[in-house]
Amino acid sequence: MKITDHIKQANGKTLFSFELIPPRKGKSIQELYNNIDPLMEFKPPFIDVTTSREEFVYIEKDGLLDKKVTRMRPGTIGICASIKHKYDVDTVPHVLCGGFTKEETEYMLVDCHYLGIHNLMALRGDAMREEQYFKPTPGGHEYALGLVEQVVEMNKGHYLNGMVETSDCSDFCIGVAGYPEKHLEAPSLKTDLKRLIQKVEAGADYVVTQMFFDNKKYFEFVDLVRAEGIDIPIIPGIKPIAVKRHLQLLPQVFKIDLPQELIESVESCKSNADVRQVGIEWAIQQSKELMEGGAPVLHYYSMGKSDNVKAIASELF
Ligand code: FAD
Repeated sequence: MKITDHIKQANGKTLFSFELIPPRKGKSIQELYNNIDPLMEFKPPFIDVTTSREEFVYIEKDGLLDKKVTRMRPGTIGICASIKHKYDVDTVPHVLCGGFTKEETEYMLVDCHYLGIHNLMALRGDAMREEQYFKPTPGGHEYALGLVEQVVEMNKGHYLNGMVETSDCSDFCIGVAGYPEKHLEAPSLKTDLKRLIQKVEAGADYVVTQMFFDNKKYFEFVDLVRAEGIDIPIIPGIKPIAVKRHLQLLPQVFKIDLPQELIESVESCKSNADVRQVGIEWAIQQSKELMEGGAPVLHYYSMGKSDNVKAIASELF
């Protein structure tokens, strides 16, 4: 079922969902199942699975582990199919521009269609570590907008190279990223908003936001989008702070602000367990307010470990 239909069916009730990262180095999927199992009691209508362009792996040379190489982290579509089958829940693969040609994307989408995956997040992807700016893959898309357009065309039965097949074609529901504190490369929130509107006008069906820690940013962002006449669901992304290092890392990587009160609470923690608890409590407060404010879904960035998301969901769903 499409994400937008799940939201319609919920009739104003806020839904619960979360995002998973494929296990490192193609390790057993059991690790993921162990993290999904405790969250299924909160009945997520959908689960996202990320795609990563960069994974560091060691290569073996003369019986020893030698220098690191990077490669695409495999598994997104396979994991989506496995989770869907095992838990009877919709899964949302994150489809990237970076690292893929348009042909490769088309193959991936055809696979998704065969596997009964009806939703996807269309994303550009970040710059690789050695790049200063995102460099499009030759034969791939430069911006998420191009990817949205490709999926929309495919939904009409229009494939690459002029191939047309209009019966039994895909009907993907398309999610795109939105940034309440603007995307890190955008010169201003206004410009970034324009880019988001282009994605919606091209056919995006819903938005999932970058993490934020001050709900005011989300509500203002929703107001700005609505003022442009756009009424598609805007799903807030929530990340519970889990380690002290997040205080530096999150603002640095995502160019987002952390409220002073949160910083002080985390800084005063004596142990990792205390930090995790502060993160849980902050996310619960954020979630309650977002629910009251009419957020259609609360989407948690679990980063692999579900104990904190379970603690949050237990209070809310
Ligand atoms: P775009 O919408 O293409 O925008 C990228 C930048 O280009 C923005 O600054 C925008 O303002 C600007 N822009 C857009 N169009 C134009 C144009 N025509 N001319 C000039 N500038 C333009 N990354 C991953 O690698 N894997 C994931 O699984 C993943 N999941 C994510 C999930 C969510 C909910 C979010 C919010 C982000 C996720 N990301 C993921 C990160 C995302 O890939 C990065 O934030 C990336 O840098 C931008 O992606 P985008 O789809 O927003 O890009």
